[in-house]
Amino acid sequence: MQKGTIGVTTENIFPVIKKFLYSDHEIFLRELVSNAIDATQKLKTLSSCGEYNGELGDMNVRVSVDKEAGTLTVSDHGIGMTADDIDKYINQIAFSGAEEFLKKYKDSANAIIGHFGLGFYSAFMVAKKVVIRSLSYKEGAKAVQWECDGSPEFSMDEIEKSERGTDIILYIDDDNKNYLEQTEINALLKKYCRFLPVPVVSGKEQEWKDGKYVDTDRDRVINSTEPLWLKKPADLKDEDYLKFYHDLYPDQDDPLFWIHLNVDYPFTLTGILYFPKIKNNIEVTKNRIQLYCNQVYVTDSVEGVVPEFMMLLQGVIDSPDIPLNVSRSYLQSDAAVKKISGYITKKVASRLDDIFKNDRKDFESKWDDIKIFIEYGMLTNEKFCDAAMKFALLKDVEDKHFTLEEYRTLIASQQTDKDGTVVYLYATDKTAQYDYLRSAQQRGYSVLLMDGQLDSHFIGLLEQKVEKSHFVRVDSDIIDNLIRKEDKKEAELTPTERTILSSMFQSQIPATEGANFIVAFEALAANDSPVVITQNEYMRRMKEMAAMQPGMNFYGELPDSYNVIVNTEHPLVKRVKEAADAALTEKVQPMQDDIDAKNAEITKLRDSKEEADKAKTLELEKEVSGLRDNMNKEIHEYAASQPLVKQLIDLALLGNGLLKGAQLSEFIRRSVDLL
Ligand code: ADP
Repeated sequence: MQKGTIGVTTENIFPVIKKFLYSDHEIFLRELVSNAIDATQKLKTLSSCGEYNGELGDMNVRVSVDKEAGTLTVSDHGIGMTADDIDKYINQIAFSGAEEFLKKYKDSANAIIGHFGLGFYSAFMVAKKVVIRSLSYKEGAKAVQWECDGSPEFSMDEIEKSERGTDIILYIDDDNKNYLEQTEINALLKKYCRFLPVPVVSGKEQEWKDGKYVDTDRDRVINSTEPLWLKKPADLKDEDYLKFYHDLYPDQDDPLFWIHLNVDYPFTLTGILYFPKIKNNIEVTKNRIQLYCNQVYVTDSVEGVVPEFMMLLQGVIDSPDIPLNVSRSYLQSDAAVKKISGYITKKVASRLDDIFKNDRKDFESKWDDIKIFIEYGMLTNEKFCDAAMKFALLKDVEDKHFTLEEYRTLIASQQTDKDGTVVYLYATDKTAQYDYLRSAQQRGYSVLLMDGQLDSHFIGLLEQKVEKSHFVRVDSDIIDNLIRKEDKKEAELTPTERTILSSMFQSQIPATEGANFIVAFEALAANDSPVVITQNEYMRRMKEMAAMQPGMNFYGELPDSYNVIVNTEHPLVKRVKEAADAALTEKVQPMQDDIDAKNAEITKLRDSKEEADKAKTLELEKEVSGLRDNMNKEIHEYAASQPLVKQLIDLALLGNGLLKGAQLSEFIRRSVDLL
């Protein structure tokens, strides 16, 4: 019998393994089963090239639990190990710079295990003792048993073992008894081993008998050894892809599209990516892309391997070239990984382009579902954005779809303003913005529907990408201001008229929580509306952005800001103005003159450094403010006696859905009176 010390330079690696690798305990099973699969495949290779001439026999890998004995055993009929092999591969683990490394990666079990080929030793995360019983395929090999109780000492003995291959027997420690439950093992095998290339057998098939499930005597194979992604796309039908999808993600709607990835140069990568029909966020975070390495499941945290926006996709990626056992920050800076990510991006973009070109109708019909994905991609990935400019679509309020270029061509002649900017009009809600939409359409303008979650960001992106373009929501100003064709006709009002009208209208706007109204005058056409309420595009966008981005509370908390635009050319407004002129000018004009005179004096004194002048200025300002108050009081009193003013405002509010509750019923009552 041989005794010895395991060749680790760190005094005792096992406590380290146990302590640091706590969170990822369960991967021991993946490591042991992977080793068993490797050993099996190595023997198959030796057999097929004539270096092994014996019977292969049953090559299944078997995982079994014995609750009574407290053991979990992974058995294979692969190449096995001689005593020399065990000495070389198990006892002498090269462990240079171990301590430094452990410090650096102490949070990541994967990192430590993979980096040092410690796969086998991960067994000590859950076992107090590990036994290897192995018979090598080599002619005349003697079977050996290796045993280690978690201290750096091991023992090795010759034993009787007739079957070729290796049994790894774990004496599960008290903290990890759950790994003696068949159901737990089933779940782990399903997670990590579901697509391994060699049949893995564990437990028995069950059947429904006498009101419960009972074991049959048939072995339960947990994996499908030829997963779909390794097959040739030409040999596969839509049904195959759909079935595979539903196997991976039960309870999901059919996906919209899929992309079969298959590269062998400059790296090896296979996989199938699905575009899901996204219904809610929970599904997005739950059903993620799964990453495999030679059919061994590694993780569903694929950050870094695929670009961020593709985290919305589902499916599998399998590549031996992704350094799986390193920390995430390393992964993201790894050049090979960057290449892979870039490749996937290109492939996804070109597949979308194909679908768009080959079956535009289908693409359009799915646009509402995929647009969130494409917009997200364009917003976060420069390369994807450039590619997607060809197939990203805009939809107008009549549900017609256009590429960016088509749409530009469509609107350029009609919707270019006097400065040469092409103005894209859009609505976010066809019903609420109906009036504005109609007046735009009456001008012969086209209106887009931009009601997606990311559309406000997407609009910003397009304005950057498409030269001389500007997006405005139809209700953000009166239509002739949205697309200015010629210099504006100014409202013809004397300063006093402006003061009177402005104060009158302002005073009659009902106080509305969370909303600010500012009165402005425009000389619109006589047959345009007398009063129009618009919402400033810039402020609205800021608020929308703030709603999506924490940390922009400043804008989020501002009230909605509306412009109440009074059309000075409208006969009703003219009537209001004339009546107000007649009733108020005589009283207001002297007050206004007084204010103007005092203001002129203030302006003169402004730059003076004299103390006396400063005091005088303050006094004048107080007087002006008092005069203003008096003047406004006069005007407000008069305005209150003019139902027409209130009526005009309320009509405009009503058109925007801003007239509610008591104000609405007052409006109705007043309307009846006026009739
Ligand atoms: P890795 O698998 O990363 O090389 P491990 O510590 O898991 O590291 O295994 C070390 C070596 O031990 C393997 O490379 C292999 O040569 C040998 N080995 C482990 N398990 C088996 C097995 N079931 N059958 C044959 N050889 C094995």
